[in-house]
Amino acid sequence: MKQEIVKRKLYDTKAPNKSTGIINGESSNVLNWDDVRFNWAYPMYKNMLANFWTAFEINMSSDIKQWQKDMSEDEKETFSKIIGLLAFLDSVQTDYSGRVADYLTDSSLSALMTILSQQEVIHNHSYSYVLSSLVPKHEQDKIFEYWKHDEILLNRNNFIAKGYEEFTNNPSIFSFLKSVVYDVILEGLFFYAGFAFFYDLARQGKMNASSQMINYINRDEQLHVNLFVNIFKEVVHENPSIPKKELENFVYDTFYKAVDLEIKWGHYIIGSKFDGIDSKDLEEYIQFTANKRLKQLGYEKLFPNAHNTLPWIKFFEDIDNSKQDFFEGKSRQYTKTDDENNFDEL
Ligand code: ZN
Ligand code: ZN
Repeated sequence: MKQEIVKRKLYDTKAPNKSTGIINGESSNVLNWDDVRFNWAYPMYKNMLANFWTAFEINMSSDIKQWQKDMSEDEKETFSKIIGLLAFLDSVQTDYSGRVADYLTDSSLSALMTILSQQEVIHNHSYSYVLSSLVPKHEQDKIFEYWKHDEILLNRNNFIAKGYEEFTNNPSIFSFLKSVVYDVILEGLFFYAGFAFFYDLARQGKMNASSQMINYINRDEQLHVNLFVNIFKEVVHENPSIPKKELENFVYDTFYKAVDLEIKWGHYIIGSKFDGIDSKDLEEYIQFTANKRLKQLGYEKLFPNAHNTLPWIKFFEDIDNSKQDFFEGKSRQYTKTDDENNFDEL
């Protein structure tokens, strides 16, 4: 097997439009949606476009009032730190996904990856948008610097960044697959304690506009996880000489470490500070979410006893529910996407 991974050519007159492989394949690089290899690619394209949103649609006026009147100091601090964390992860994610796109020798998948990158840019803008409405500029700047100094945050972010760097510094089929595992952890696990905090605020009727924004981001991330999971599975399938046992050990080991880091972060940022979220429940919810991602990737649960201890999140995750009962956002078309809608079922 060719262990190295080669970047996609700008065009190739001798290759077919329908690619012969996700990586190291032959592809003319012309995109004709009616002549693509995977039947899930076009529906995913439609879903990604149907989800289109920007921060400009979110009216922050009630959040601005509540920030001053109704938010405790603890709530404000946690809110800010989570935004700081998300800003780091989404910034790195924009760049990482662009680099992944360079190696995809399938024009439909590189197109999807490009849309994904653009959505990460929108996520990043939304953090600046929310903060600039709530706090003075110097504080916003400080929040965007948290990740450089806060030790727990730094450990957690380094874990992902190092995983990505292993691929960007030494691209190979194996380092590509390993980086996708880090990706699924970033987009499918490391956001979730933060999301839980925002949904808990919404549950109390607080900061609904910010939660709505998180809701949109959450919906995008679900699709992003699906795209990376599909790529992971297809690349494993297309490259039978990949050392499967080694990959499996890597997946379990990495998820185990990730859950540990996420639980530490959860205790630090949320802990027992807020009535709505019990720290033991949060811990189990993180394990449950990790199980869910492992299952998507085709592996076994690492925490067989973990249940969805924060079932109310499901309600807030679903845009249809949240817009009817909690948010006053404009009516949106929501295209049902995937099994994520059955988050409770594992
Ligand atoms: Zn994002
Ligand atoms: Zn994403």
